Amino acid sequence: MKGRLAGRVAVVTGGAKGIGSAICERLAGAGAGVAVTDIDDEQGQDTVARIEQVGGNARYWHLDVTDEAAVERTFREVRHTFGQIDVLVNNAGIAGVNKPTDEITLEEWNAVMDVNVRGVFLCSKHVIPYLREAGGGSIINLSSIYGIISAPDLPPYHASKGAIRLMSKTDALSYAREGIRVNSIHPGYIWTPLVEALANQAPEGPEAFRHALAAKHPVGHIGEPDDIAYGVLYLASDEAKFITGSELVIDGGYTAQ
Ligand code: NAP
Repeated sequence: MKGRLAGRVAVVTGGAKGIGSAICERLAGAGAGVAVTDIDDEQGQDTVARIEQVGGNARYWHLDVTDEAAVERTFREVRHTFGQIDVLVNNAGIAGVNKPTDEITLEEWNAVMDVNVRGVFLCSKHVIPYLREAGGGSIINLSSIYGIISAPDLPPYHASKGAIRLMSKTDALSYAREGIRVNSIHPGYIWTPLVEALANQAPEGPEAFRHALAAKHPVGHIGEPDDIAYGVLYLASDEAKFITGSELVIDGGYTAQ
């Protein structure tokens, strides 16, 4: 398949649904071979099927990003299957509990940090040797508007997304001379299963929740997964060859206020 990523290979975590599956489809649509990874095997296989239906090249791996042995093994298998790895998208993330800090248990705190922060660390750690071998590459980390500003809810989520923002800059500086670029993306609200679950828990009901969310974005509505996927595609491509340590905010104006 010809395109901006022809001949490249990308690994996407949390690629089964929501933003992750849109990212897999856009990267494959631009010609990349895509390793779709997730813990939701059924929907992960569905992502692969959608890519193959339109002539793209993808394969599914079950990967829990908190499991270091599985991360190491998966990257080795992806390298063996596709011959190289050029792009990592650290997309897997969870919202976690919605309680004020004084009510959160250590287990609840750690559950969010394990997926959102440790997962980014482990996948970045284990992909670096392959990016080096390929002569460079691009790591794209999904932070959030809540890695830049905050809100009076989801304390561990906000902490984790703030951590991802600076992890991206540190790695950008560490690997710049090796041609490995590292950037973060900061989405506003995007309608995905993650946000749908938050809406379903809202005391005011899901419809009122969605309207209130829309009103918080100056453009008057929340985003869709492709709004983020096209940003990832740009950062993965050579068009972004001078961009590292940067923050791509895609939020309908949310943080401009
Ligand atoms: P989503 O709809 O919940 O999809 C996330 C995927 O990651 C799910 O398939 C989930 O599987 C999987 N996952 C969960 N834990 C995992 C683990 N330990 N290892 C591997 N995969 C795991 O989420 P989304 O809304 O698309 O969000 C994707 C990323 O964008 C997240 O990092 C999120 O924080 C970030 N983001 C989202 C928004 C938004 O408004 N949606 C805004 C800003 C940032 P299960 O469903 O089985 O748990």
